[in-house]
Amino acid sequence: ILEARSIYKSFYDPVKIDVLKDVSFRLNSGDYASIIGRSGSGKSTLLYILSTMDTDFTGELLLDGISVRKKSEKELAAIRNEKIGFVFQFHYLLNEFTALKNVMLPGFKLNKLSEEELEHNAYELLKDLGIEKLAKKMANQLSGGEKQRVAIARSMINDPLIIMCDEPTGNLDTKNADIVFNIFKELTEVYNKTLLVVTHDLDFAEKTGRIIELQDGKVIRE
Ligand code: ATP
Ligand code: MG
Repeated sequence: ILEARSIYKSFYDPVKIDVLKDVSFRLNSGDYASIIGRSGSGKSTLLYILSTMDTDFTGELLLDGISVRKKSEKELAAIRNEKIGFVFQFHYLLNEFTALKNVMLPGFKLNKLSEEELEHNAYELLKDLGIEKLAKKMANQLSGGEKQRVAIARSMINDPLIIMCDEPTGNLDTKNADIVFNIFKELTEVYNKTLLVVTHDLDFAEKTGRIIELQDGKVIRE
């Protein structure tokens, strides 16, 4: 479902730093994989590339068999909206909207379901994450952990093939981290989704099916 081939990425800041050096791996449908590595090892940088949000890299990236090379920004946006769910390290909810509305928003971009259907699906996702009581709360009234779960629900609203999460459990206590782990596990096992999770939480990583470890921009363990 996802194949990274020899991905290199450098920043010029103002001196050149090589953040990713020859990163290659592939993920199949139903894989539950985590990316680990020290702070600054390039995890978030890699996730931005894999999710097509950063196209300024060398190497090749195939998503669902499609090369992201030579695609226009519009085509990439379509691929992103349809196939990829993304949870950012800092969740970026829109404060002027309710939790429910935040979950619904990516659905409007896809333009497939009516507002009522989207609202229903968004509510079901909040329920799965145990926060349906917060549906009508404004995003800025939520705690960090609650925001994180809303962001996870939002990543799932368009029923993506692959969900990428940057530190999904960073703000969660063990109980809620377990809830998130199990929801992701069910998505992979029951719905054949692919989950790629960047995490500092080694207990979480050990429970996923695969671990991809980055060090100095290289995959040192797979
Ligand atoms: P953390 O675990 O702290 O989130 P990370 O593994 O996600 O770290 P990245 O955010 O990918 O690390 O950053 C990798 C390296 O690239 C770091 O040295 C960082 O300073 C550098 N870097 C990231 N983004 C930029 C940027 N936009 N411009 C310049 N350097 C950057
Ligand atoms: Mg990061």
